[in-house]
Amino acid sequence: MKIGVLALQGAVAEHIRSVELAGGVGFSIKKVEQLNDIDGLIIPGGESTTIGKLMRKYNFIDAIRQFSAAGKPIFGTCAGLIVLAERIAGGEEPHLGLMNMTVSRNAFGRQRESFETDLQMVGIEETVRAVFIRAPLIQSIGDEVTVLSMYQDEIVTARQGHLLACSFHPELTDDYRLHQYFVQMVESSL
Ligand code: GLN
Repeated sequence: MKIGVLALQGAVAEHIRSVELAGGVGFSIKKVEQLNDIDGLIIPGGESTTIGKLMRKYNFIDAIRQFSAAGKPIFGTCAGLIVLAERIAGGEEPHLGLMNMTVSRNAFGRQRESFETDLQMVGIEETVRAVFIRAPLIQSIGDEVTVLSMYQDEIVTARQGHLLACSFHPELTDDYRLHQYFVQMVESSL
């Protein structure tokens, strides 16, 4: 399983490490042409406005939409989740607009800008360690979207067919089971 990590901003090396712990082979993706060589794509955290701008500048928007239309799995983490969403609360322009959900940026407020917790996750047996950093949350979802985990009544992980999104940073801990879940999604898409 060849899994690319979009390398415009964010913890690219950490995602590649988690992919490899999960049994995949990780690649850093800097040019659209490289999308042809991978089976799945991870969009890391960072700042969604910046990632969106860089995606437009380097022609990734249409290329990733085509990648998705071909049924290839995509996993957005934190800012990557915002980039995947069809709607951003507050009326900001969406970026890829692939997942039928409305997301709210920096949704945990100043008191909880950054924290760690353990989450129950559908499809994963024991709780998953999650690091939240100025995290978004999923305000509402369409019928085709399944909730995989919640934190205090808020949706923080969701899946829509071949698309997976989480509010936190799964690459910043040694717990690679969410990457393993994604590697399995990629495996079954082949
Ligand atoms: N606050 C960032 C945004 O709104 C996301 C933070 C992150 O990726 N850790 O884009």
